[in-house]
Amino acid sequence: MKWQQTPIKRCAEKSGEPYILHPLAVAKICTEEIGLGIRSSICSLLHDTVEDTDISLEDIEREFGQEIARIVDGLTKISNVIDINASQQAENFKKILLTLTDDPRVILIKLADRLHNMRTLESMKREKQLKIASETVYVYAPLAHRMGLYSIKTEMEDLAMKYMEPDVYRDIAKKLAETKRERTKYINEFIRPIKEKLEKGNFKFEIYGRPKSIHSIWNKMKKKGVDFEEVYDLFAIRVLLDSPHEREKEDCWKVYSMITDEYTPSPERLRDWLSNPKSNGYEALHTTVMGPQGKWVEVQIRTKRMNEIAEKGLAAHWKYKEGTSDESRFDKWFQQIREVISNQETDSIDFLQDFKTSFLAEEIYVYTPKGDVKMLPVGSTALDFAFAIHSAVGSKTIGAKVNHKLVPIGHKLRSGDQVEIITSNKQKPNEDWLGYVVTAKARGRIKDALKEEKKGKLQTKGNMQYSASWMAWALY
Ligand code: MN
Repeated sequence: MKWQQTPIKRCAEKSGEPYILHPLAVAKICTEEIGLGIRSSICSLLHDTVEDTDISLEDIEREFGQEIARIVDGLTKISNVIDINASQQAENFKKILLTLTDDPRVILIKLADRLHNMRTLESMKREKQLKIASETVYVYAPLAHRMGLYSIKTEMEDLAMKYMEPDVYRDIAKKLAETKRERTKYINEFIRPIKEKLEKGNFKFEIYGRPKSIHSIWNKMKKKGVDFEEVYDLFAIRVLLDSPHEREKEDCWKVYSMITDEYTPSPERLRDWLSNPKSNGYEALHTTVMGPQGKWVEVQIRTKRMNEIAEKGLAAHWKYKEGTSDESRFDKWFQQIREVISNQETDSIDFLQDFKTSFLAEEIYVYTPKGDVKMLPVGSTALDFAFAIHSAVGSKTIGAKVNHKLVPIGHKLRSGDQVEIITSNKQKPNEDWLGYVVTAKARGRIKDALKEEKKGKLQTKGNMQYSASWMAWALY
């Protein structure tokens, strides 16, 4: 029987660790950090077997059943081979997404696998470290973010940065450590009056300061062109409430009100993800207030349930989904991905780029004239919005009214905009439109329309010339 053979493992060759440690670690991440169940843990234990040993998929199906075999198959298709070029990498990613839409557990286990690879990157050669790390920031961290796995995303980014920018990483880590005492003192000073108020209000809560990740601090430094000393939000204050489901929203706003009675909020920094959760399931209330010594401090208010969703993402979301009437935003997201993948003929690299801008970017919320909300990636235009409503609307768009003002189709939308699309039956997509859209759906539909037209033109070239001259006459 094949099971008795000792598998030879790539990781083991490099780190010298026994083979079983890696799958065990991945299974541990799946259960403890993502909150997956029994079947997923079995799959994570088996995830490398087909690829690295003589055990076949049939063996797995015979021993563990069809469902587990299918997931392991999905995980095997997502090859771990690192020495590949960009287009193969993109092709790989396309495969990940195809399996993802069959069963999201595949992608969650894959993320756990990747996280463990990142945690043990030390033992790899420098060149491979760089390849794995860059692939992680490019694809896996955004994917983890999109799945709502914030802590995994953050850890992936920090680990990648440790290998890609070792000097900056060490420098920031050192400065963070040096300023820790000062920071703790400030956080305590900030928290004290809030704590008293919450206790008086009989809330069950936790409140603490949370350091921002090295990667996000570095991003701020780059974006604003400032030194470490000038990055003001090195930490955020988090209030975790223990509230019954029906009082969650009300309680969060009560706490918001108590905090802003104490410290002045910055009006443009209020984020209400209670009324409009992000499509990855994230719910919370964020605000930035002016704390002691005139320093801006970010405060995040959420309940324990919301916190579990923020940490464990998708899996926790499913756990809580039962009993709510809310249509799952994940399901919608998967549906959109499926739609895009199913009518894709573009080459993989294009696809990857499209996918990144369409599905992994941050979102904006825009409204139809009737008040329905649409979520679009940052950078979306009026034309993207039109295609998001319906392809038939998109192809006939001649302009739009944003907040009642007339704008061209390439107008970039902002969160909170109300958009009305203006169409004409004479309108049709042209080549320039590809430069006005960022969503994969709009791009795909425009390309389809252009292709159709080309085909049509070839067949009716004679007629077209005729009708063109006829039109010229008609104009006289
Ligand atoms: Mn693995």
